[in-house]
Amino acid sequence: MKNRTVELIATPPEPRYVGDAFRVHNFIPSLYRLDMDRMTPFVLLDYASKFYFSPTDTPRGVAPHPHKGFETVTIAYKGKVAHHDSHGGGGVIGEGDVQWMTAASGILHKEFHESEWSKQGGAFQMVQLWVNLPKKDKASSPKYQAIINADIPRYRLENSQSEIEIIAGEYKGITGAASTFTPIHMLNGRLMRGAKADFTFPANYNTILLVVEGNIIVNNTDNVPTDNLVLMANDGDGFQVEATTDALVLVLSGEPIDEPIAARGPFVMNTEGELKETYLEFREGKFGELV
Ligand code: MN
Repeated sequence: MKNRTVELIATPPEPRYVGDAFRVHNFIPSLYRLDMDRMTPFVLLDYASKFYFSPTDTPRGVAPHPHKGFETVTIAYKGKVAHHDSHGGGGVIGEGDVQWMTAASGILHKEFHESEWSKQGGAFQMVQLWVNLPKKDKASSPKYQAIINADIPRYRLENSQSEIEIIAGEYKGITGAASTFTPIHMLNGRLMRGAKADFTFPANYNTILLVVEGNIIVNNTDNVPTDNLVLMANDGDGFQVEATTDALVLVLSGEPIDEPIAARGPFVMNTEGELKETYLEFREGKFGELV
């Protein structure tokens, strides 16, 4: 095993609003070195850092919009989101839950703060990730995986209350909850102060850490505070995370999809021609209906 080193520690970019519900720091693809080709199969990461929303009776969210060619994964840390799509998928996710929507051949969906939660207001914190699909799967049928926290397998660290939730992929021989099209590991490390966890992924897998709560040190050398993202280099396989306060860390690692990426707006395809076709399909109403 060769040690995997830290390539970059990224502070959160200035937030922007997606609809009026999601105040996000866009880490992938706009800033730093975190472009789509570098981060494949992760082609977008929007992080809604913890933010207080005041009570309202007016729905906050993003109205129906299309996606094609990839999957949207929403990981809820605080607050509640309601989702509906034109393929019949839908539901509400809250703290610790994950929704995994495969847009694939094309879908319409809408994403709103859940209405009862919104009437109370409160702290909201989530990650939305776009996971690319290989060319052979871009035309497959849409699907929806609702993953509640209680159904996420977990690994308890030795001599500790700390645990690793395995949303997708694998950790220490335990298989995650979600099915994926290409090899992806998606883990939440819920670490008590002083806990140490080690991670090993193939060196070519693109790997990032997002510190959702608390403070960590990577490989005994690199200090990473809350809301910062770490890009691990592709120079080795294993690395270690130590929590210097109680901490929550999202760990993402995926096998690169070695294909050209043509992305515009809500679509991620392989060529410009496919993007043009996709806009045409959308205008012709081929992604179904959703009000
Ligand atoms: Mn969307």
